[in-house]
Amino acid sequence: MKSSDTYLAPWPPVDQGWRERGLGQALLVTGESAQTRLLAEALARQLTCEDAKTPACSCRSCSRALAEHPDIVVIHPEKNRIRRDQIEPVLQNLYRLPLWSPGQFVWIEQAELMTEASQNYLLKSLEEPPGYVTFALVTEQSAGLLETVRSRCQVLRAQPGVPQERTLQEFNPRQLFTRDHFTAPGIVDMAYWARERYRQTGQEGYLSLWEASYQAFRHLEANGNADIAKEILHNVYSHVQR
Ligand SMILES: [Zn+2]
Repeated sequence: MKSSDTYLAPWPPVDQGWRERGLGQALLVTGESAQTRLLAEALARQLTCEDAKTPACSCRSCSRALAEHPDIVVIHPEKNRIRRDQIEPVLQNLYRLPLWSPGQFVWIEQAELMTEASQNYLLKSLEEPPGYVTFALVTEQSAGLLETVRSRCQVLRAQPGVPQERTLQEFNPRQLFTRDHFTAPGIVDMAYWARERYRQTGQEGYLSLWEASYQAFRHLEANGNADIAKEILHNVYSHVQR
């Protein structure tokens, strides 16, 4: 994994082995707010799941609302800032082992609103968190963070936009594979389409297609090679359609 990585929202539907591929423990999740939230939520879910790490998982952790999970802490700004005394108790509790999950997830929402004192206080923990802790600094404006904070984080960029419901109804997966249409936004539509189909039918093939959309997107983003991305996706698609 590079130090800056682009993630398709909706992110990987099944366990992508993020940790194994070098996911850091201090993450800066950037992008538009709706997508950053989706990505942070996916991370929170996967890092605290106690069982299958799939969207269908119904383990104790996956069934629990994020806000009520004992190993997920979400810090929100109050009156447009995040003060040091909001962060302090969380950091002081970091050495309490997770109650349920393999990991503990600390989600700082609108992280750019941390005061300078908060950011400086956070620095040390960002540098050497206990092995089971992951920080996600979620922000649309990473420029609002101190350079010292940014430089300690691995950047995960959530993009691109979620397609409108109408767009999705009109989406024709077959058309995606014609030369003019094979674009990153098209792949995102495919991901959503496959997700919807999976939800409606429960067919594993659509789950694979959803995942393949993610891989194709990564390929396209990484080297701009549409042919490889198209081949990846088309293989899975033709398999599903059989
Ligand atoms: Zn689970």
